[in-house]
Amino acid sequence: MNSKTVYISLGSNLGDRAAMLQRAIAAMNSTGIHVVRQSSLYITEPVGAPGQAWFLNAAVQAETSLLPVQLLHTLLKIERQLGRRRITSHGPRTIDLDILFYGSSVIRSRELEVPHPRLTERRFILVPLAQIAPEFRHPTLHQSVTQLLAETVDRSEVRFWHAAAET
Ligand code: AMP
Repeated sequence: MNSKTVYISLGSNLGDRAAMLQRAIAAMNSTGIHVVRQSSLYITEPVGAPGQAWFLNAAVQAETSLLPVQLLHTLLKIERQLGRRRITSHGPRTIDLDILFYGSSVIRSRELEVPHPRLTERRFILVPLAQIAPEFRHPTLHQSVTQLLAETVDRSEVRFWHAAAET
């Protein structure tokens, strides 16, 4: 089977956020998305729709033989299983799973855009990704994740998260 290396971003700002991320990773591992590397958890300021709860975010590297659209549909199914309701596009969510990179493929369809088009403007994606894949090169921008993070215009706050520090 021809397996690809993919990078996926995870986020949650509703309910037991850390448990949601762990459940999403467990669900990926049991549906053909084999997680081989996982970032720390980060607490991040909501971007785009202020006034809602802060997010927990992480990024994972996985190996999969799923094709891009199969991977998307599998992730959407996991989102539904974990109780995701699409109320507003930037509103609170129990779980959000985004495909950041699918090997070095470039996909621009109505349903799926890879590399994820907004990853360069989101520190909540770039900081966890830089922890696990600092040298990975963006297939069209030809810059490493470390360079993209150094050059992003986003100034939103992203900090390590420790369960014990939560109030
Ligand atoms: P959102 O509500 O922001 O999570 O958007 C989810 C929708 O974005 C999905 O139904 C996909 O069709 C679409 N989409 C486009 N590109 C991607 C991507 N790289 N990863 C995940 N979803 C994507």
